[in-house]
Amino acid sequence: MASRRSARDSRSAEGAEGARSGAPPWKIAVVGAGISGLTCAYRIAQRGHDVVVFEAGEAVGGRMRTVVKEGLPVDVGANLLLANYDRLHALARELEIDDSLFPFVSGAGGILRDDELTSFSPKSAFDVLRYRGVSFGSRMQLLRYFLKASAWADRLDFFDLSVGDDEDEGRDAYAVVEERLGREIADYLVDPFVRTFHFHGSDSISMKAFDALAALFVGRDGFVPTGFRGFMSALPEALAARLDVRCGRRVRSVRADARRGRGVLVDGEPFDRVVVAVPAPIALELLEGGSDPMRALLAETRYAATLDVAFRVPLAVAEDFEGIWVPFKESAIISECANDACKGCKDGIDCVFTMGLHAETGAHWLGRSDEEVFRDVALEWSRLFPRYSGHLRGLHVERWPHAMPIYSPDHLARVRAFLALGEDAGQGAGGIFLCGDYLNHPWIEGSIRCGEKVANLLADRAVPAGRAKGTPLRETPPPDPSES
Ligand SMILES: Cc1cc2nc3c(=O)[nH]c(=O)nc-3n(C[C@H](O)[C@H](O)[C@H](O)COP(=O)(O)OP(=O)(O)OC[C@H]3O[C@@H](n4cnc5c(N)ncnc54)[C@H](O)[C@@H]3O)c2cc1C
Repeated sequence: MASRRSARDSRSAEGAEGARSGAPPWKIAVVGAGISGLTCAYRIAQRGHDVVVFEAGEAVGGRMRTVVKEGLPVDVGANLLLANYDRLHALARELEIDDSLFPFVSGAGGILRDDELTSFSPKSAFDVLRYRGVSFGSRMQLLRYFLKASAWADRLDFFDLSVGDDEDEGRDAYAVVEERLGREIADYLVDPFVRTFHFHGSDSISMKAFDALAALFVGRDGFVPTGFRGFMSALPEALAARLDVRCGRRVRSVRADARRGRGVLVDGEPFDRVVVAVPAPIALELLEGGSDPMRALLAETRYAATLDVAFRVPLAVAEDFEGIWVPFKESAIISECANDACKGCKDGIDCVFTMGLHAETGAHWLGRSDEEVFRDVALEWSRLFPRYSGHLRGLHVERWPHAMPIYSPDHLARVRAFLALGEDAGQGAGGIFLCGDYLNHPWIEGSIRCGEKVANLLADRAVPAGRAKGTPLRETPPPDPSES
């Protein structure tokens, strides 16, 4: 169990308003100690409420977690952060771990095409345009796209896709790019880009989500990979150290407490509200309450699966690269590989390579043994890059059935509609708030923003605007049978 130093130690002046209003603090349960749940719990506690976080695993962090194998650290989920993760940087500053953030320094990355690796280290739109793996004509098309991108970069926010226009509403990125920029760019730039970071193909992501992704290259900071010196677990562990986190507590049921208005029961224990911060399919299994739109959103949210496969590789053999993108046309197994030496994952002899699998293969290989996975991934990598043949030693396999929520055009529309609903059917219905990277906010920055957004919504409702100081916070309304 993580230590119980309370987030109230670090309440901001603006925070602690629940306490200031004279109202008793609410007792809040957060299910899931991934980065969205921990951030949410931390912000709610800062607003003066009592928060308990239940985590099924033995460690916090979920998809932002580091394990140590044979003395080598392995980031088993997220493995890089970006310089423009503003809320992450703010949180790191508050937790006093910002001085351990550093940009990765390494040689270029590359994209594989026809057995040849073409150098590609995309820090900005200019780097993308210099990529020689596609024809001159294709690069001119890209230039046009990026010129337009500077206009929509201000209107779109990759980290909050619930806002902004969607000029290509209903269309997927592959179809739009193939039509406007040509098939070569679709197959050898756009599709590998989406697969490297999302594991599924660009025919599943909405053009709006892709535009927002591409906007990262034309934005203020460019695409600068960054990490913590203490690796990915550093942030979740710093948050957990300030909260009451119960690890090894898999929650089985969340339901409305019919006797107490909008109160909820978490495995039978009463709370005023609950934040369910687990992937959508797991949330659906837990919920015995919640509104129909809430359940429908959870049921319809889809994920790409992947396996994160780590190998030891002799430093004498390993080339210095940050990341290699492998188009689906070149390999149906491996989607990307990172040499994590650039963030310090090495000893005197070996470094760590981590490889992600394409979603199609990931979904089928979830049930395979570690040995089978190491063997087949090593064979495939050696087919693509013969210099590594006989030099990959299996270190760790992490299986992710819910690796990345799929931002399909219809998903975006569903999330927007759900978030627009009031308390009776949307967030907070039956005392239940949803939280996580599927709520229009992908990646770590999106998850943090979602955690903060949910915390604000919940705490604002706990202390209604205009309530006179000292008046009772809650009149317990009669139970609403439709919410039980
Ligand atoms: C392989 C991989 C690579 C990625 N790479 C990057 C990257 O480089 N950069 C980036 O920004 N993002 C990356 N991401 C995405 C990022 O990791 C996620 O968007 C983010 O971590 C999601 O956080 P979350 O809190 O929403 O969910 P999660 O991290 O999934 O947290 C959910 C938590 O709930 C717990 N839980 C589940 N069921 C229960 C239960 N019944 N009771 C109690 N607890 C339960 C889980 O154990 C988990 O800890 C990557 C993801 C994966 C899988």
